[in-house]
Amino acid sequence: MTTTKTPRADEPTSIIPQRFFELLQETWGFDSLRPSQHASIASILEGRDTLVIMPTGGGKSLCYQAPAIFRGGLTIVVSPLLALMKDQVDSLKQVGVQAIRIDSTLSVSEKRETAQQIRSGNVRLLFVSPERLANQDFIRFLEGNDVHTIAIDEAHCVSQWGHDFRPEYRQLSALRNSFPKAAMHAFTATATEKVRLDIINQLGLKSPRVLVSSFDRPNLTYRVLPQVDLQDQIREVCERHRGSGGIVYCLRRNDVEMVTEYLQRTGFSAVGYHAGMSHEERKRAQEAFLSETVDVVVATVAFGMGIDRSNVRFVVHASVPKSIEHYQQETGRAGRDGLPAECVLLHSVGDVMTLKKITEASLREANASEDIIASSRNQIEELSRYCRTPLCRHRALVEYFGQSYSSPSCGACDVCLGDTDEVPDAKTIAQKILSCVFRVQERFGVNHVVEVLLGSKTQNVIQRGHDKLSTYGLLRDISKAQLRDWVYQLIGQGALELDGSEYPILKLNAASRTILFGDAEPRLIRTATTAKERKQASVSEAVEFSDTRLFEKLRILRRRIAQEQNVPPFVVFSDSVLIEMSAYRPSTSDRMLDVSGIGKVKLNSYGNVFLETIRQHCEECSIAMDVEWKKPSTITVMPQSVRSGTTSNSKKSITIPMLRQGCDLAEIAAAAEITTGTVVSHLLELMQDEIIPSIDGWVPVEEQRKIILAADAVGREKLKPIYEHLQQSVDYERIRLVLSFEKQQTAT
Ligand code: ADP
Ligand code: ZN
Repeated sequence: MTTTKTPRADEPTSIIPQRFFELLQETWGFDSLRPSQHASIASILEGRDTLVIMPTGGGKSLCYQAPAIFRGGLTIVVSPLLALMKDQVDSLKQVGVQAIRIDSTLSVSEKRETAQQIRSGNVRLLFVSPERLANQDFIRFLEGNDVHTIAIDEAHCVSQWGHDFRPEYRQLSALRNSFPKAAMHAFTATATEKVRLDIINQLGLKSPRVLVSSFDRPNLTYRVLPQVDLQDQIREVCERHRGSGGIVYCLRRNDVEMVTEYLQRTGFSAVGYHAGMSHEERKRAQEAFLSETVDVVVATVAFGMGIDRSNVRFVVHASVPKSIEHYQQETGRAGRDGLPAECVLLHSVGDVMTLKKITEASLREANASEDIIASSRNQIEELSRYCRTPLCRHRALVEYFGQSYSSPSCGACDVCLGDTDEVPDAKTIAQKILSCVFRVQERFGVNHVVEVLLGSKTQNVIQRGHDKLSTYGLLRDISKAQLRDWVYQLIGQGALELDGSEYPILKLNAASRTILFGDAEPRLIRTATTAKERKQASVSEAVEFSDTRLFEKLRILRRRIAQEQNVPPFVVFSDSVLIEMSAYRPSTSDRMLDVSGIGKVKLNSYGNVFLETIRQHCEECSIAMDVEWKKPSTITVMPQSVRSGTTSNSKKSITIPMLRQGCDLAEIAAAAEITTGTVVSHLLELMQDEIIPSIDGWVPVEEQRKIILAADAVGREKLKPIYEHLQQSVDYERIRLVLSFEKQQTAT
């Protein structure tokens, strides 16, 4: 059954035929498309060139996989890494799709066999490396087949401005001549405007539809802390996620070795990974991590793109990444399954300087132009500013990529969670700093200004007579590290400029002047060095309302099957599938098909063993099977308009109706695959437009009373004092909720 219609000019997406959704359900067990997938797939089915920019975990691969199967013929997928190709082909085979890959590891006879398969017309997706496509014989062979679509994965690799330039990608535009009728679709997770334009030009996309999803990853909690005791800070994060997968990124090999050794010594299952190890050693480390026999990989960024493990629960940057794009890409490896994950960045000025030196040296060695070198320096500078800006991390990241962030607080970063202490007299302190910059005539760097404010008697200060300035010693009670940090915080807010690259000098700008005249309120924070002990959204919370013990049993079963088949566990089933299974406890195949992520083929392969484990568990614990689980009947497939769709808005199509029905927060979080924190922020937004009669279903009356009493005692400006007053027994989300409700009540 196909739907025909006349497209109107103001309608960016065409309607996707019903049959497509049947295929989606049968093959993958998904009952809907995410809104941004909807727009991309509509464009792909139309055969129009497309550039899809979607964050990691957004579901890019489905965008080219499902249309390839739906349309028949052959879709070529270009992918930069063997490991990525292998995972995708393995995953597709698991759901019964004919997909193959051609790469350098195939033997001559395997290549011959592959060629025959392609010629037979049964192969839907062919994964190839860009190098392969430079081979003319291979192209000639492919020309004899019905190639109607070319999908370029990780398309930012084509751009020198991107974070992972690969010269081989430059040759891909030649494909246009070989397959003039085929549509070309490019996919990437991170792309600034500059990279986006570069992708379009380099690949020669023809009047492409550009679809940009929100860059926000609401399931990630971001924390950015200054380094104090690096090893201890790393251990603290690993501790919070003991038993789960995580990646610790270090700048140098030495650090990798030290941290690995330290984690092993303190009882973690950790391996190291860096370019100095042999190919074999690296392969072993990677496989151990993918097969979940090891929890933590400590690595240089050499460890990266091939990592497709979907249930990575934390990423620690033990040193600053090279740019905000790198940071987005590297943190993006956490929580690809949509479940909560934590990203902690530990920064230091020393690391930033070292990184600048290393990057510049390697670019010079590669004969990069001065433009590229300056741009890389700028990118590190931007990242460093991000670290020191006391603004919501989710907002900062999203705005960096040119999008707006609607929620006043994300509920999932150190700033919004109140890890940091706001400095009450920020304005006076900022004025003192700025006037000192003015007094030294905007001719000195951060160090010197800090020395003057501290009242130091260094040679430099005395020689220049700066001990005679009115600002000399004005902030002598503050520690040097703290003061430096505040100067950088002002730079981060745009209230002060750092000019020049070799010896950067502090300069005032228009914003500095408004602060000096008392017309603006700068923010300064005292940074905490460790995340405060708190209950934070975690996977165990998602499992809480399912059965944790059953979940663990299913995990073991999954690992066993994966080992037998020589594929990573997530290729068998994702964590979210296991969580749903342990919540539903299905007793029949039909019930099993209700679980999102189980299609026909997987049901046939694994249904019985999983059903058996669930049945045994229920018998042992004398608990019922087939738990009634209110799946939101309200999830509808919404076409998303070009460029406007955001993941968080799409989630609202799930959360808002459920909130109106008064569903449980954890239940809504699971249905929408977001944290309860995000659900609460949706609820708060809803409360701005609608009167909510009661919040008793979400916060017990007694607890509401406790929160109000605490707020009466310590004030309502900040959540943290209330949280502490209640001895951390009530989480921030509930506090926020109760205070907002109270406000609404008093306003009406
Ligand atoms: P990306 O390549 O963009 O990082 P993936 O293609 O790996 O993302 O998808 C991320 C996760 O989302 C996978 O676990 C995938 O199974 C799941 N997923 C993708 N599309 C859907 C959908 N429409 N419904 C439910 N889950 C989906
Ligand atoms: Zn935030």
